[in-house]
Amino acid sequence: MKLILLGPPGAGKGTLAESLSKKLNLPILSTGNILRDAVTNETQLGKKAKAFMDAGKLVTDDLIIALMDEKLSKCDGFILDGFPRTIAQAEALDKICDIDIALSLDIDDEVIIKRMTGRRTCPKCGMTYHLEHNPPKSKDICDKCSSELIIRSDDNEKVVIDRLETYHKQTKPLKDYYINKLKSLDAALSIDVILNNAIEMIKI
Ligand code: AMP
Repeated sequence: MKLILLGPPGAGKGTLAESLSKKLNLPILSTGNILRDAVTNETQLGKKAKAFMDAGKLVTDDLIIALMDEKLSKCDGFILDGFPRTIAQAEALDKICDIDIALSLDIDDEVIIKRMTGRRTCPKCGMTYHLEHNPPKSKDICDKCSSELIIRSDDNEKVVIDRLETYHKQTKPLKDYYINKLKSLDAALSIDVILNNAIEMIKI
């Protein structure tokens, strides 16, 4: 199955991707995680991407499309978290393969701004947590790989507002692009309910 997750930053795409990946036994391809690794490892890609990411802007389409072209050619099925994010990226994806379903996580901006200040991320494996809604079992420690959790540098309020603006301008139009494959989820609900609703929509 080829599934994409749409939705604003902080809607819970990463968390849903993790749960669905376990249920469906599908790999996750998260452009955000790939780019953050590239920044940490100071690769060519990371050096080019860093300034865009720090400013809450999108990394250029040519870089992202080249990256995903290579990754997707190796996978039969996947969950895409954070790609595509522009119409140009969606058109490039169409040339690589057919998507089965686009799940859209819908939530108001105000709720996201509140949420993102409570977000904690594992710098090693990319798992995300929330202090209130999805806390790790031990304070500030990743359940999956035991690394110390961090606050992402782009999770501060100013950058979150910029990222939301970028989302509305460049990524939200994808909901119309995928209108025939789109299923919408209320992302303000609890993680368990969102997961159940998603599974119902995918009908496994
Ligand atoms: P995310 O973790 O998905 O919120 O991504 C973090 C940041 O990485 C975004 O704010 C963008 O700067 C960059 N990024 C991730 N995915 C993409 C993409 N598909 N196209 C362009 N930039 C991206």
